[in-house]
Amino acid sequence: MPAIELYHILFFLFGSIIGSFLNVVIWRIPRGESIVAPPSHCPSCNTHIAPYDNIPLFSWLILGGKCRHCKKGISSRYFIVEFITGLFTLLMILTYGLTPLFFVHLFLLYMLIAITFIDLDHYIIPNEFILVGLGLIFSAHVFKWLPITMIDGLYGALAYGGFLFVIGKVGSTILKKESMGFGDVKLGLVIGGLLGLKLSVLALFLSFLISALFTLVGVALFKMEAKGKIPFGPFMAGGTLVVFLTRTVGGGNSILNWYFTTMF
Ligand SMILES: [Zn+2]
Repeated sequence: MPAIELYHILFFLFGSIIGSFLNVVIWRIPRGESIVAPPSHCPSCNTHIAPYDNIPLFSWLILGGKCRHCKKGISSRYFIVEFITGLFTLLMILTYGLTPLFFVHLFLLYMLIAITFIDLDHYIIPNEFILVGLGLIFSAHVFKWLPITMIDGLYGALAYGGFLFVIGKVGSTILKKESMGFGDVKLGLVIGGLLGLKLSVLALFLSFLISALFTLVGVALFKMEAKGKIPFGPFMAGGTLVVFLTRTVGGGNSILNWYFTTMF
């Protein structure tokens, strides 16, 4: 990863602006509202938020996380989404430089951030994301922006989506209730199509690993109840993000490279 230069900070700021937009997407898409109109308003008192109070990161800090008018608290989630979107944008430009891969992965990353918070709130992954994602991945293959062949993307999609589909079928037969939502399967098609077969297997493995660690830590430290419903989308996003940040521009992956040179 190259050293951080001044212009990289611009990518962080750009990312935080996108994060501000993602906050709107996260709130409105599952509620069937338009993401362009009306302009932002306070969730408590409905007052229109002036542009100078809508500056990513800074406004929330300056206003102390409160609405200027009604002084009701504004969730720190708004700040968190803006911050992590800025941070991951910075990490992505450091990983890929200004390449087509950067833009394709960045767009998918933004979708995954929105999906993570929507899935946490509503236990759904809206079809809008799946359609836009599939369209983007297909275009990326047509224009040869990816370091994998289209057929490898197809294998990846079938492997990732197919695995979750089978897990879901087996799980619902054993548990007699839905265990893996169909939204996860569809998102798996998008991620798999971008990563190809090898990296799809890695991303799936990492998602289950993160999910297992999360559950262990949650049960051990926070006495989390195992019966609570936990969406899988955020773990898919987590595993995929790790693969994004370790994918090399020429194809391949530094985790896989390390694994194969160390083990064999
Ligand atoms: Zn207010």
